[in-house]
Amino acid sequence: MMNVPLTVGSLLERAEKYFPKKTVVSRTHSGIQRFTYKEIGERTRRLMSAIKKLGLQTGERAGTMAWNHHRHLETYFAIPGMHAVLHTINIRLSPEHIVYIINHAEDQVLFIDEDLVPLVEKIADQIPTVKAFIIMTDQAELPKTTLQPAYSYEQLLAEGNPQEAFMTDIDENDLAGMCYTSATTGNPKGVIYSHRGIVLHSYALGLADTTALSESDVAMPVVPMFHVNAWGMPFANTWFGSTQVLPGPRFTPKVLAELIAEEGVTITAGVPTIWLGLLKELETGNYNTSSLRAVLCGGSAAPRGIIHAFETKFKVPFLHAFGMTETSPLATVARLKSYQSDLSEEEKLDQRAKQGMIVPGLEMKVINDQGEVNWDGADMGELLIRGPWIADEYYRDDRTEQAFQDGWLYTGDVATVDEEGVIKLVDRTKDLIKSGGEWISSVDLENALMGHEAVFEASVVAVPHPEWQERPVACIVLKDGFDEETMKQELMDYLSPQFAKWWLPDDIIFMKEIPKTSVGKFLKRELRAQLEDYFMKQN
Ligand code: AMP
Repeated sequence: MMNVPLTVGSLLERAEKYFPKKTVVSRTHSGIQRFTYKEIGERTRRLMSAIKKLGLQTGERAGTMAWNHHRHLETYFAIPGMHAVLHTINIRLSPEHIVYIINHAEDQVLFIDEDLVPLVEKIADQIPTVKAFIIMTDQAELPKTTLQPAYSYEQLLAEGNPQEAFMTDIDENDLAGMCYTSATTGNPKGVIYSHRGIVLHSYALGLADTTALSESDVAMPVVPMFHVNAWGMPFANTWFGSTQVLPGPRFTPKVLAELIAEEGVTITAGVPTIWLGLLKELETGNYNTSSLRAVLCGGSAAPRGIIHAFETKFKVPFLHAFGMTETSPLATVARLKSYQSDLSEEEKLDQRAKQGMIVPGLEMKVINDQGEVNWDGADMGELLIRGPWIADEYYRDDRTEQAFQDGWLYTGDVATVDEEGVIKLVDRTKDLIKSGGEWISSVDLENALMGHEAVFEASVVAVPHPEWQERPVACIVLKDGFDEETMKQELMDYLSPQFAKWWLPDDIIFMKEIPKTSVGKFLKRELRAQLEDYFMKQN
């Protein structure tokens, strides 16, 4: 067979050639803008020539600090397309961590959204490798800034070459992108993506039994483009010629609901907290969601209750998937097998609320002290994954040794496997609640609680206990109109037939909001600290 390198630039070239009329809908600070792939292609080529003129060299890193919009999409292809490395920076990290990762990646150039300029100005004197700041503004004039030297994105494009060629002389194993993932302790860890990994992962997103992305989709990644490349959707959707809807800065559930209705979105992707917010909006407004063929949910466990609500109230199919920054991210998808159609509705929902089966191309195993666990849905162990779009190291980081062993990624997630080979994540190793020598799954308790009509958000964490070592405590945000006094007992009564007695939370605490991570997951570390304070004050 021919040994043709798989490269990121070729993905956009295909869209330019075969789908020049298809569009990218981009919500920016000044409103909705529309571009065809012909225009995106030309703008990307101009950008490529401009950043070369600024001095960016092969293999060097260019950072982006940006929301989901067309300019960010252009950097996705221009930077790897000239054989440099696209480093998407999580703008919600603390300034200290942002400084750390820019220095660790040695970014030479920074692309910055207009509203994030003040954030970068505050750290500019701590990031000496950065030689140029490119401001992504809709305005003709560059906003006033202390960043030096600063360039206007559109001005650079105006001066760039619309025929600049994507580099073809690229080893497919070379770096194309990188993204840092938060660690439980210490600094974020850098994950690097090769050209080959990105292209193979794009194939995986197109498989009928995974997310089935295709030309006919109108795809709206709500998951940020700074979080595992918006789950790889911008690459795959461009390649397949799908219409893309990029929801831009500081969107609200209302904005998302309107975009779905007005643009006819067929597939959208994000973490459960986004879908909880959207669900609330859909319940109050009157939106047409009939175009949706899938709400793709990952990043945290999709509560059974959300799946049920989307599907029964709004006839919107829900699709639960699992992945990590280290896995590009698509690793497992929860779909029923064809012969499972005679399961009861409840059983089907149970199955689809699991994380699912490993996608074609990857391998997994779940191990504990005794070796591989039995596929009985009960034995628990750590999930290991390997395959051509799984990272094999952290960038210049000695934490590599612990996470990557014998050709496997040790995910740090604890899972069971059922007779069908379907995995169910029980917890992160660090979030499992160890009570009296046994393990309690916080995820199972959360799932059950979020199935109750009064519960908006639920997060269950361990608090230290003198006798049992740890005990679960549930933190709940109630929906409007429900009363804390009466709900405490009602929720306990609701849980008790579903779980063994020793699994039941020792307490239920009501909150206005559950602290979230920079990518919208429940921040259990912070919650545990808050609860320790709470119990200290009580005792
Ligand atoms: P990140 O690298 O930030 O995307 O985080 C990856 C981690 O998120 C995984 O190791 C899991 O702990 C968690 N995660 C991702 N998807 C799911 C899911 N569908 N269900 C439960 N946890 C998930």
